[in-house]
Amino acid sequence: MRAKIGIMPSFDTERNKIEVNLSYAEAIEKAGGLPLVLPITSDKSLLEELIQEMDGFLISGGHDVNPALYGQPVLDCCQEICPRRDEQDYALIKRALELDKPLLAICRGAQMFNVVLGGTLYQDLPSQYIPPEAAACKTPLTHNQEKPYHIPVHAVTIMEGTRLHDCLGASGLRVNSIHHQGIRQLAPGAVAAAYAEDGLIEAIEVPGARMAMAVQWHPELMDGDASRRLFSLLVDSSRHSRNGQVI
Ligand code: MN
Repeated sequence: MRAKIGIMPSFDTERNKIEVNLSYAEAIEKAGGLPLVLPITSDKSLLEELIQEMDGFLISGGHDVNPALYGQPVLDCCQEICPRRDEQDYALIKRALELDKPLLAICRGAQMFNVVLGGTLYQDLPSQYIPPEAAACKTPLTHNQEKPYHIPVHAVTIMEGTRLHDCLGASGLRVNSIHHQGIRQLAPGAVAAAYAEDGLIEAIEVPGARMAMAVQWHPELMDGDASRRLFSLLVDSSRHSRNGQVI
């Protein structure tokens, strides 16, 4: 049996539509998993059943995270937010961590993952982010590239001793970058697993979890070994998540 991977979609409030780039499902399919796009629901017991039904989760990219979730006022530089998706992402990530079900969070998903764990975000990198003294690159990188999105635009350093380092078997990687928000204060309980050349955190993870990992780039839009390894880790970890049995 394939591991069921629940994909959190974006939600278009005006049109009452869920939307998700097919690349996420295709990446899970290629890794041997069963991709399932989740609905958005405000019914807590329904969400709990959906969570129980899944073996692992992929938290996709999307709108800006509501700064109220990390105790900040919404600044003008913050772009569109989606309260219904925020609510479900928050509840789902929290519950997946409690149940120790594998989770890979991407882009906005990574930002939300940091917020759920108690961290904060930059609401807008171009106007708020200043590289630290220790950064290799003192001028901020362009983190919001133009198409085509499969082309890498900046490097990341992968930290030794992390799950991400184990998974990729490399200390560096070139990645795409399609984000204007980013991780500010790293959440307690999480570790930074990758940094961009300008010092920005590009991946975080929770040590000791079956898999609780978040990357700021979009592996689902990039071909190559690194992307394949990330999705294989999600699917393979999820195959072991049902009562500790391999499914
Ligand atoms: Mn970036």
